[in-house]
Amino acid sequence: MSFVEYSDLIQDGDVAIVYLNHNSAMPVKVQAGSQTQTRYGVIRHSTDLIGQRYGSKVTCGKSGWVYVLHPTPELWTVSLPHRTQILYTTDIATITMMLELKPGSVVCESGTGSGSLSHALLRTIAPTGHLHTVEFHQQRAEKVAEEFKEHHVDHLVTVRNQDVCKDGFGVTGVADAVFLDIPSPWEAVGHAKTAMKKHGGRVCSFSPCIEQVQRTCEALADHGFEEISTLEVLLRVHDVRTVSLPLPDFGPDSPAQSEQEVAEKPPPPAAPNHASVTLKTTTPPREIPGHTGYLTFATKPRS
Ligand code: SAH
Repeated sequence: MSFVEYSDLIQDGDVAIVYLNHNSAMPVKVQAGSQTQTRYGVIRHSTDLIGQRYGSKVTCGKSGWVYVLHPTPELWTVSLPHRTQILYTTDIATITMMLELKPGSVVCESGTGSGSLSHALLRTIAPTGHLHTVEFHQQRAEKVAEEFKEHHVDHLVTVRNQDVCKDGFGVTGVADAVFLDIPSPWEAVGHAKTAMKKHGGRVCSFSPCIEQVQRTCEALADHGFEEISTLEVLLRVHDVRTVSLPLPDFGPDSPAQSEQEVAEKPPPPAAPNHASVTLKTTTPPREIPGHTGYLTFATKPRS
């Protein structure tokens, strides 16, 4: 099992995702002899997990069942233990696209936080890229490094426990892209530039407040970044409903008919008053809750 490759069978030592329903999933460290309690019953690792295919439906307890899934960054994001606020897949997808990440990309990130974004970055840049991630909170840095090992992605990432605003990313001239998710990103813009390749690249900063965005944009412009733009990603989920509409009454037949034709034609049967048509329609939401943050992107030109 690895977060960047797929395996068919669940093995001792894997991290599997127990999928309870579409808004509840939990990661389980598979260990021969262990068991895991879920709200649908107990899962016995030796008999219910080890040797089974990923994707299997596992019966637990008397009548309950769950699916056991191969881990992916998306499933990790919805099931990981939170040490901080985290980034979710809607923002992550936009970040990945706008930073133009691909297999082989070298990326710098700070702070690492709970590693939600990091896992997605690692899957995109594997098998030849590298992530340099900086986290100044010691326990968080240690915990995420431990998780990268357990998820077999540690060869793709270097975790540095330092203050990115004071000490930077610990690398010079190597990054294709830099991502910032810290309270004062403007203080790290100079270090982002230092970490980036001579021929340029992309930078993104995530901030919940517009005042942070303003200061970051100013710092980006001062350091010579170009194409500075900020966007917010909001999901607009349409509500599908079945509605019943009264049939329109178009009156007598079209005026193109001659008077004689009209006179000869028997009148149409009278439509009943309650005639109606049933159709499906969607309504977009009036308000969209779920502001997470603003994403500010910029390009470092060739230097
Ligand atoms: N993007 C992460 C969440 C980051 S939370 C995720 O998806 O999981 C922000 C993190 O930045 C916190 O863990 C905090 O400790 C760290 N941080 C804040 N300021 C920092 C700094 N100056 N240098 C390094 N890390 C910093």
